[in-house]
Amino acid sequence: MTIYNFAAGPAILPHEVLEQARAELLDWRGTGMSVMEMSHRGREFMGIAAEAEADLRELMAIPDNYKVLFLQGGATLQFAMIPLNLMRGKVSADYVNTGIWSKKAIDEAMKFGHVNVVATSADRQFSYAPELSGWKLDEDAAYVHYTPNETIGGVEFNWVPQVGGVPLVADMSSNILSRSYDVSQFGLIYAGAQKNIGPAGLTLVIVREDLIGHAAAGTPTMLDYKTHADNDSMYNTPPTYGIYMAGLVFKWLKKNGGVAQMEKTNIAKANLLYDSIDASRGFYQCPVATADRSRMNVPFRTADAAMDGEFLKRAEARGLMQLKGHKLAGGMRASIYNAMPVAGVQALADFMNEFAREKAAR
Ligand SMILES: *Cc1c(COP(=O)(O)O)cnc(C)c1O
Repeated sequence: MTIYNFAAGPAILPHEVLEQARAELLDWRGTGMSVMEMSHRGREFMGIAAEAEADLRELMAIPDNYKVLFLQGGATLQFAMIPLNLMRGKVSADYVNTGIWSKKAIDEAMKFGHVNVVATSADRQFSYAPELSGWKLDEDAAYVHYTPNETIGGVEFNWVPQVGGVPLVADMSSNILSRSYDVSQFGLIYAGAQKNIGPAGLTLVIVREDLIGHAAAGTPTMLDYKTHADNDSMYNTPPTYGIYMAGLVFKWLKKNGGVAQMEKTNIAKANLLYDSIDASRGFYQCPVATADRSRMNVPFRTADAAMDGEFLKRAEARGLMQLKGHKLAGGMRASIYNAMPVAGVQALADFMNEFAREKAAR
């Protein structure tokens, strides 16, 4: 039986990438060493890291005036590093609250400065992306932070907010490389690797150079972007194996048509599931406003928890794994990142249709 893993993160990796990692595990290209055993300052690993960065730059068309940093601490540490580095003596930062991840970013930023929540979707249980015309932006804000894809709520912005001259900061943990973005519209993009890039333990930061070097007094060395920018992310030992794996994923993306092709496939994949939900005549419900439904994380539920339980059990028996919704959300959630093949999504859609038909027939 083919197993399809719909976990939200750590999440599925491309099968071919895992095969390659296995083939190279004990002996990387005739060196007789595993990548895990290599010095981060040795020629071999420096080459691996440089190639990973170059491939990412190509995939996202990252302009030359942006640094790519390979860090640790997850997206969660960025919730603190961003205000520590980007306040630049200003009084406050603007944040958009669209759910659990934006709220965590807000709560952390409040420790370091004043936060203005300029827009929120709390009025409708965080089920939509608030329109830009309603945002109460402050033109003196240090930056504007938003979460393009709320991994738990399944709400995704299908537009990039135009916020004038204030740097735009985006937590792209769960949708980086899944759709085309013009990096020059952002001051800083960050993402934990474990959803769409590679194994947990690596955090990616793409930051415009003029935003580096302004950390607040007292900022620990390791939390200052300048430390990492000045040392090619090798101030201390970086997450070497995670960088290697991310590099393999970047190669896989390049070989498979890059971000533009991923985006097309991701639209088709998401449509398969939303079509099943919409065609079920209310048997499945998705709480998210149609225009803001995520292409990466599809939350849905039936009318009762016992039915959800039966759905999950029978899905597992078919090899459709890790579909249980987040503990705060309940129901089901299918995470269908780049590495999830169309066949996996089709198998889930088929099962959803069959299950709904069976229950409706009773
Ligand atoms: C998973 C996730 C996080 C948390 O990432 P960690 O790497 O576990 O710190 C933050 N933001 C979003 C949008 C996420 O999906």
